[in-house]
Amino acid sequence: SRDEVHYFGAGPAPLPTAVLEAASKALLNYKDQGIGLCEISHRSADANEILADAKSALKTLLEIPDDYEILFLQGGGSGEFSAVVTHLVGIWVEKRRLRAQEDLTVALADGKEPGSKDDLAEKVFARLQKEVAEELKLDYLVTGSWSLKASQEAARLVGQDKINVAIDSRKSNEGKFRTIPPESEWSLTKRKREGGPGSALVYFCDNETVDGVEFPRFPTLLEPHQEDEVDNDQTLVVADMSSNFISRKVDVSKYAVIFGGAQKNVGNAGVTIVILRKSLLPPTINVASPDLLRRLGIAVAPVVFDWPTIAKNNSLYNTLPIFDVWIAGQVMKHLVESFGERRIGGQEEVSTQKAHALYSTLDDYPDVYGVVPDKSCRSRMNICFRVCGGKADKEKEFIGGAEKRGLLGLKGHRSVGGIRCSNYNAVTQDGVQKLVQYLSDFARSAA
Ligand code: PMP
Repeated sequence: SRDEVHYFGAGPAPLPTAVLEAASKALLNYKDQGIGLCEISHRSADANEILADAKSALKTLLEIPDDYEILFLQGGGSGEFSAVVTHLVGIWVEKRRLRAQEDLTVALADGKEPGSKDDLAEKVFARLQKEVAEELKLDYLVTGSWSLKASQEAARLVGQDKINVAIDSRKSNEGKFRTIPPESEWSLTKRKREGGPGSALVYFCDNETVDGVEFPRFPTLLEPHQEDEVDNDQTLVVADMSSNFISRKVDVSKYAVIFGGAQKNVGNAGVTIVILRKSLLPPTINVASPDLLRRLGIAVAPVVFDWPTIAKNNSLYNTLPIFDVWIAGQVMKHLVESFGERRIGGQEEVSTQKAHALYSTLDDYPDVYGVVPDKSCRSRMNICFRVCGGKADKEKEFIGGAEKRGLLGLKGHRSVGGIRCSNYNAVTQDGVQKLVQYLSDFARSAA
């Protein structure tokens, strides 16, 4: 039964039992209406209330400033790999278009540019084409399998030549993702203040689920810079927080976009959450028109991933899975109630404590266990290690023994092997204690 098992899978992942019990009732008969949550319209008053409650709980937990929008979408984290690119590149083009139009209008009127007003549109286009060819860059910090995938999707949408891989942590680690190289080694596209063109976005994955690598803090190099503001060249920082969403404090104001699939810390697979700076939406700024983007050879977002459309429709442009939003809302409300004023800081303490218990046990037996990532960037959420140097029979024995004790979901990702223990919010202290005990018992028997 559920009480006899602890599940450490990487996602989908455990949900609080109380939420699932309430969900099973809500599925059959929501609020005593004789009809279940999956059967009601996403446009009903109930659905709107569910959406508003989920947004409000998230806003409270992460202390999201008022100048940020919260969107709920489908398509998973992978869908957002694409949406990030189409949106922020679309804005990059629009900003350049507005500037070119302004400059060239003046230059034509002053006679500094040959031709007449009628030539303006083509002149603007020619300048944009040149700027896209020479200056459009997207910076990616590749520290694991998911940021790698995101960078590959960006290359597919706008062309490999536009992608600047500012770091690839495999390079200094025999092809393995194990570290986050020091910032002095990052080769970010130079911003205007440094004499460069600036990048359309800087992307990183805050927690790499497959490789167990997590950014210990917000990178200093990406901190907001006053001079960038004067130049209207702020670094637009994008973070994939799919696997460490609502597990620690985040200064949202430093990010242009934060996104994450729900199926790890927040809920079940089916909804993706995007937290987006409102100044990156109309009426402040538009994405360049689809016609212009097409002419420039840049991908246009399918409408279901078009953030302005989703924002304008309060995430209800098309049918949103309201049941999934309800689950996420319940999970977040539960955290708000549990931690009160401490907000997500309360969850952060618990997560850190659980992770510490696991890592310190692994470190106690260096002859048996080897943690994969470097100490400086060990994930609190996905604890990746090898048993007996990665000997296949020993790792199989480890997993078999764990299963006998009801400790499930410990197999590492198929691309890297080994063991992965996911320590998401709903993994209980009791579950972690049992795993700690097993780690010690196995190590002693293997010694
Ligand atoms: N980013 C991260 C960090 C992930 O862990 C995952 C999925 N495990 C994804 C993106 C992709 O998410 P999805 O499967 O929802 O597209």
